Amino acid sequence: MTTTKPTIAVIGAGLGGAAAAALLQRAGYPTQVYEQAPEFSRLGAGIHLGPNVMKVMRRIGIEDELDRMGSHPDYWFSRDGASGEYLSRIPLGDFAKKQYGASYITVHRGDLHALMVDQLDQDRLHFGKRLRTVDDQGDKVMMTFADGSEASADLVIGADGVNSVIREHLLGEEAPIYSGWVAHRAIISAQKLAAYDLDFEACVKWWSEDRHMMVYYVTGDQREYYYVTGVPEPDWHHGTSFVDSSREEMRKAFAGYGDVVQALIDCTEQVTKWPLLERNPLPLWHDNRLVLLGDAAHPMKPHMAQGAAMAIEDAAMLVRCLESVGNAHYSEAFELYRANRFERASRVQQVSHDNTWLRNDEDPAWVFAYDVFDVPLNDPATQ
Ligand code: FAD
Repeated sequence: MTTTKPTIAVIGAGLGGAAAAALLQRAGYPTQVYEQAPEFSRLGAGIHLGPNVMKVMRRIGIEDELDRMGSHPDYWFSRDGASGEYLSRIPLGDFAKKQYGASYITVHRGDLHALMVDQLDQDRLHFGKRLRTVDDQGDKVMMTFADGSEASADLVIGADGVNSVIREHLLGEEAPIYSGWVAHRAIISAQKLAAYDLDFEACVKWWSEDRHMMVYYVTGDQREYYYVTGVPEPDWHHGTSFVDSSREEMRKAFAGYGDVVQALIDCTEQVTKWPLLERNPLPLWHDNRLVLLGDAAHPMKPHMAQGAAMAIEDAAMLVRCLESVGNAHYSEAFELYRANRFERASRVQQVSHDNTWLRNDEDPAWVFAYDVFDVPLNDPATQ
């Protein structure tokens, strides 16, 4: 059978690329995925999936599985790191389902990623393919990979993260900005925590003036607890995407925090430290047959827990725009996509940068109630 749909190459099978490819393949686009990693492993990290993302997971067909897999906090609590005083209580749980249209879960990032990658046509998923060059020849795009192989496609989606080769091709070489903050990440066995007479809440962010520790369960059975921090560190000179940290470093960084945080540090077996990178909003998200999404377009500090959420929403909006404009008019579709993502993604980038999200009681509906499939589309001409 012949198809009128363009062939699409997705560069990067991270959370944004996997979402884009899953939705494109379901919509009948011949879509190949090229991922630089030789394989994916279950790195020690968690992730929040708000109702805005779960609505996309519903379309991909994995909402129920994620609901089973994840922890369902009833609240996001913000608390003072030293005194324990509650700064905010943001209702989630059944409230989120009713009010925002889907669950709010926290889950292991590796489990989520594996489930998403499983949804792809495995014959069209290529590991060990690090994109080196793209050449938009007007009627098609040629790609070369570090292993010496080549491929072509009608359209290419750059879902290749903060150091995107497609972004560099469109806008020139420019390193991301080191924000001056790092994140420590550790997974802790809940068994160890049972020795303490303390309440380990399902989703809580401990704050002080210039740093924080976000803590939550990453499995539905609450077997694994996870923390991720934001701590100032003036320079990042390691040249790698993360390094090992230590209990001693954590004790120093969180001296003065209360019993729960000290218990988490005492129970830490392995902790890594990541530089938090950003870019200012980009002047260009697409050109002719190339388009960006996710961290390639708008990397941000993770302090709203919405970076991957924005990548996944981008993916869904991009497919929606391609479907609504028609395949012959991909440039218009890309412009419609940008017009309907730029403002939201830039706002989330800014709030994440400021690290103010849910510190005090506020209404999170503008983030959580958003339905990428249903939101009225802005006209690019009025932007
Ligand atoms: P990535 O996840 O970076 O994926 C890019 C993919 O492209 C990778 O698989 C990479 O190997 C591949 N790639 C790169 N270059 C090439 C190439 N040249 N050729 C082929 N493949 C290539 N977000 C949330 O929504 N909730 C959270 O709770 C959350 N917590 C976070 C905590 C921390 C500490 C950090 C650092 C981030 C957090 N985020 C969170 C943000 C989130 O991780 C990112 O925003 C998200 O992963 C972006 O997805 P992406 O698909 O755009 O990019």
